[in-house]
Amino acid sequence: MNFTDRVERVEPSATLAVSNLASELEADGVDVVDLSVGEPDFATPANITDAGKAAMDAGETGYAPSNGVPALREGIAAKLREDGLDYEAGNVIVTPGAKQALFETFQTLVEEGSEVVLLDPAWVSYEAMAKLAGAELNRVDLAPHDFQLEPALDDLADAVSDDTDLLVVNSPSNPTGAVYSRAAMEGVRDLAVDHDVTVVSDEIYQHINYGQEHVSLAGLDGMFERTVTINGFSKAYSMTGWRLGYLAAPEDVISQAGKVQSHSVSSATNFVQHAGVEALENTDDAVVEMVDAFESRRDRLLDLFEEHGKDVSTPDGAFYLMLPVAEDDQQWCQDALKDAHVATVPGSAFGAPGYARLSYAASTERLEEAVERLADAGYL
Ligand code: PMP
Ligand code: GLU
Repeated sequence: MNFTDRVERVEPSATLAVSNLASELEADGVDVVDLSVGEPDFATPANITDAGKAAMDAGETGYAPSNGVPALREGIAAKLREDGLDYEAGNVIVTPGAKQALFETFQTLVEEGSEVVLLDPAWVSYEAMAKLAGAELNRVDLAPHDFQLEPALDDLADAVSDDTDLLVVNSPSNPTGAVYSRAAMEGVRDLAVDHDVTVVSDEIYQHINYGQEHVSLAGLDGMFERTVTINGFSKAYSMTGWRLGYLAAPEDVISQAGKVQSHSVSSATNFVQHAGVEALENTDDAVVEMVDAFESRRDRLLDLFEEHGKDVSTPDGAFYLMLPVAEDDQQWCQDALKDAHVATVPGSAFGAPGYARLSYAASTERLEEAVERLADAGYL
């Protein structure tokens, strides 16, 4: 068969590829410490699963309204308003995962010849989604600035121009865990306004933040009308497999992106959306417990790397850290998986060669085991 240029331009997701490889080894009986895929290791809180079951029992098993069930769209808009963002239910599309929300956003806002600016290291799927939509990439490297955006604003100013169509900002960041300061976000705002650029603000790790201020771009002066806010339930509520996320944007974006949703996935799963209403309303304590656990695991891991003389930037959010490894990070990750049975993702998949991304959404014992294995096999 002949394949489209579009699909041949992209690689499979590197995060999911390593995790699949780790699963294959595990199926062969190997005990792998899998720090590859970014997925909380907690069960979904029971009040949420109960609400999902109750919704199924109540017959919420048919098609849902394409842009989302009204109670959830309203609940999401109310949450966003609590964060100081001026959204109503009509500004929200509920999607099967934030990934689909991003996919619809790229399909709606960029095309052949459009320019998309990414802040490297950047999550693997932004590049693929931009390329699938036909866009060209222009990348700004935050690695020399300890992964922070504020000291890189001059570089960003060099990259963004009147030709830029879309800028993607992800704070807290996957893969670095960096949380961008208010000054950094205001710098983004100034550039976006000056050059009339639309910004995608991916805030999926909003709640996984160890004490830094979370700044939502859509709340800054001049940004509401040029921002698409992305968020979801996978990370904060440990609901990765439920597939529930959303985009919030001005109504004209919703009308256009809603067409992509209605012709692709139809809607997010009906009863899952009812579980989402419960997650928003009654799960704050469980979220705090999970975030506290991630923070203490981060601290333990940083201590362990320090003991081994590794200089690791302290992540202030999400559950990832970037470990400086070898120039050939892909080889390092392959070898570490083969010899030490520790799965990590090569930094080059995120535009950060020389690093491996570790997800510390694993128990402290497993993290300790991972460091011990890496050290014993000569990888630290
Ligand atoms: N954005 C970022 C930065 C992510 O790390 C992920 C993780 N998969 C997503 C979006 C999509 O998450 P989901 O589709 O599970 O909601
Ligand atoms: N976002 C997570 C990660 O980066 C999940 C996998 C994916 O969707 O890429 O590991």
